[in-house]
Amino acid sequence: MRFAIGNAALELIRGNIVEQDVDAIVNAANETLAPGGGVSGAIHRAAGPELADECARIGGCPTGEARITAGYRLKARYVIHTVGPRYSGNPHDAALLASAYRSALMLAASHGLQSIAFPSISTGIYGYPLDQAAPIALATCRDVLLSHPGITLVRFVLFDEETYRAYDQAAQTIGLTPVEA
Ligand code: ADP
Repeated sequence: MRFAIGNAALELIRGNIVEQDVDAIVNAANETLAPGGGVSGAIHRAAGPELADECARIGGCPTGEARITAGYRLKARYVIHTVGPRYSGNPHDAALLASAYRSALMLAASHGLQSIAFPSISTGIYGYPLDQAAPIALATCRDVLLSHPGITLVRFVLFDEETYRAYDQAAQTIGLTPVEA
């Protein structure tokens, strides 16, 4: 599915984020920036060991913030490592999840990047319920895109059918406008 937001496109696809040919792919990182399981493990394996070396030099990243590195062997020139919250049920979770998306997009904008691909942050090992996380992810991206016209493509690369469906449903719930691909 493809949606128009100002001059930008927001896409939802099923797939593997490491294969995306965009300016930056986003990693669902942890606060240490060390390679983990899930999408982080896949990105580090595809990028090569230099990625973990650069992350170690950065030294960490608080929840809700993001850091940028090179993409090494990936097609993407950059990896933006953003740290979503571990779901706790506390109302603050939503603000931290929105901040993780916003920080990643602001970093892309400040580096002059035009296209960025996200996985579904926090909904794997970090346990954030999909039906709550998906509208936060999409609404935050919509709001940043409207104020940062340099970013022309945000692609959500969703690994399984259940995740894809939750984002598709959330796009309708928040009233995004579908366009022909
Ligand atoms: P978190 O710790 O933020 O919850 P996870 O990596 O555990 O991060 O999961 C986040 C989402 O990324 C999950 O929906 C998971 O299925 C998905 N995922 C795992 N591998 C990939 C991949 N290669 N490309 C895209 N998404 C992936």
